[in-house]
Amino acid sequence: MTTYILQNRHLPEECQALDDELPWPAALSGVALLCTCPSGEHGGILAVEAENADEALAKLTPKFRAGTRAYAGEVYLVGEQIPVA
Ligand SMILES: [Zn+2]
Repeated sequence: MTTYILQNRHLPEECQALDDELPWPAALSGVALLCTCPSGEHGGILAVEAENADEALAKLTPKFRAGTRAYAGEVYLVGEQIPVA
């Protein structure tokens, strides 16, 4: 399994349509969503475990997935030593 960082961007007028898709799929239960909408830069970031980018994106609702890119990455707690690749 690989950690995928999913970055969504959307227009302000798309917020309501994304909210209308809730609740989130069970596959995302317990996953933190960092939402940037209150700043005026509409979007969100979350990290999921998946075998590949397509599997990671498939965890999202269709409208949220449409504006989302997947990046293979890693998540660290602040203060942890980050291993050098
Ligand atoms: Zn928004």
